[in-house]
Amino acid sequence: MNKQCPCGSQKEMADCCLPYIRTYSAPTAEALMRSRYTAFTLHEADYLFQTTSLAERRFTSKKEILDWAKQNTWLKLEVLESTATTVTFKAYFLDAQGQSQVHHEKSTFKEVQGKWFYVKGRFL
Ligand SMILES: [Zn+2]
Repeated sequence: MNKQCPCGSQKEMADCCLPYIRTYSAPTAEALMRSRYTAFTLHEADYLFQTTSLAERRFTSKKEILDWAKQNTWLKLEVLESTATTVTFKAYFLDAQGQSQVHHEKSTFKEVQGKWFYVKGRFL
C-alpha cells in the first residue's frame, strides 16, 4: 500500500502513523497527535479512545468519537508548534453540512509508563 499519510508528514502511512495505530502507542506527543488525526480519517475510534488518558475517558465514549470521525470529511492537518508535552495544530475538515471548518487546538499529552496519552485540549 502506497498511501501518503493523512497527517501531512509526506511519508507513507505504513511508515508513519499506521504502526502506532496498530500497536496503540506512539513514541512522542507529536507522533501521538498526528496519529490521532490519522485515526480520525480512518474512523479508528478504538485508538482514539485507548490513547485518551484514563481520567478523561469518562467524559467521552467510543460511539461519540466514531460519530464525530464519520460525520466529518478530514482534509488536512497542520502542526503549528510542538513541545515535549503539547502540540498546537489546525485540523481542516468539512462538517456534516459540507461547510469547511478549522479546528484550532493546543493539546496536552502525558507519558505514563512509556506510553503517551491525550490529556486535554484548549480550543484557540
Ligand atoms: Zn502520519
